[in-house]
Amino acid sequence: LRRNAGEIEFHQAVYEVLESLNPVVDKRPEYVDASIIERICEPERQIIFRVPWTDDAGRVHINRGFRVEFNSALGPYKGGLRFHPSVYLGIVKFLGFEQIFKNALTGMPIGGGKGGSDFDPKGRSDAEIMRFCQSFMTELYRHLGEYTDVPAGDIGVGGREIGYLFGQYKRITNRYESGVLTGKGFSWGGSQARTEATGYGTVFFAREMLAAKGENFDGKKVTVSGSGNVALYAVQKVHQLGGTVVAMSDSSGYVIDEQGIDLDLMREIKEVQRGRISEYADKRGAHVKFVQGGSIWDVPVDVALPCATQNELDEKAARALVSNGVKLVAEGANMPSTPGAVAVFQGAGVLFAPGKAANAGGVATSALEMQQNASRDKWSFSHTEERLDAIMTGIHARTLATADAYDVPGDYVAGANIAGFTQVADAMLAMGVI
Ligand code: NDP
Repeated sequence: LRRNAGEIEFHQAVYEVLESLNPVVDKRPEYVDASIIERICEPERQIIFRVPWTDDAGRVHINRGFRVEFNSALGPYKGGLRFHPSVYLGIVKFLGFEQIFKNALTGMPIGGGKGGSDFDPKGRSDAEIMRFCQSFMTELYRHLGEYTDVPAGDIGVGGREIGYLFGQYKRITNRYESGVLTGKGFSWGGSQARTEATGYGTVFFAREMLAAKGENFDGKKVTVSGSGNVALYAVQKVHQLGGTVVAMSDSSGYVIDEQGIDLDLMREIKEVQRGRISEYADKRGAHVKFVQGGSIWDVPVDVALPCATQNELDEKAARALVSNGVKLVAEGANMPSTPGAVAVFQGAGVLFAPGKAANAGGVATSALEMQQNASRDKWSFSHTEERLDAIMTGIHARTLATADAYDVPGDYVAGANIAGFTQVADAMLAMGVI
């Protein structure tokens, strides 16, 4: 605790994983002998740096940049960059720690890392965003490389930011190293379906959870929290599979649209105009209600997909969902449910999938982008989506099979933690004390 003082979210993430590992420690004493748990909780490298930049009025601002290179037992560090005022070391470490196991679950050769800055992109002009990204990369570039560390997007970092970051990397290094960043534009080394991948992947995972119980999305009412990258494409896939998303949110509140979210309108507001969710209610019609503040989890639904941010769904919200009859919760965001909420879902027999399994489709498709870069190839949308679907179906099967093998049948939390951990632990054992 003293070594990681004040890093609340990191403690939460570590606790949640370690709690699942008791049956592993009993079965595999060699992990204890080699101090694998202690080693896996300590990042291989943490980089913290100053990011100075100038706004449009000529004022100089200073932000803090982070990159935590957590574990490279399975491949180069891989994980996104988050630009949000709440970012500090504890958030970056929780995300990096989760990323280790998530990346292992994909079955792709990628290690775990995460980074970002406490920079707030809201209300900033394109030119300010560009200057910030260029300054950020001016330090970060020396730590990156397609065989070393490969960042991607996360909250506040989408296609625009990846473009500015890649441009500066290319300029400083004089190398067109496509595989050094993922989430690139399709015409300059990006992959089809990367934008859609996390949201689609979460819904593919939820589809498998329903199928395991003989059910499907047809006719199901769904809440998707957030209205960013993950949320928008989760909505698209739910609608394609016959479900209806009736509520979405941003940090100002949520909207209820019983006719089903009009995704074209929501994308126009969120992706093109970068506006607020209340504008959806203004434009869509009188039947839509905007609730400022409040809890989106009060809306009665069959399926809940939290796709916004960490700890957005607490114990009280979980009780509201359960009392309204929710059947399935799959996390599109990273650690959106508090430990109390997870306990409520599991206690009530609600199917519950943690983010490290259900949202692994984004990083898996990033690894597919790296494959295409390495082979100088471009795959079609349908081929890439099929690969994503197969990966998510595989993670679902492996999670359930691992839960069975360790006598916790149906427990997706334990299954995902154990499957991810044992794969990384075996690689670390093989490589000796490093
Ligand atoms: P975006 O920045 O695109 O969107 C985040 C959304 O969440 C915004 O609509 C934001 O609203 C909303 N939000 C933030 N805080 C709250 C809150 N307290 N209550 C309600 N809504 C809130 O990020 P992404 O969609 O990329 O990421 C969302 C989550 O998914 C994160 O946890 C991320 O780590 C995870 N993830 C993302 C992946 C990816 O490929 N992008 C991959 C795997 C996981 P506002 O605009 O008001 O801030």
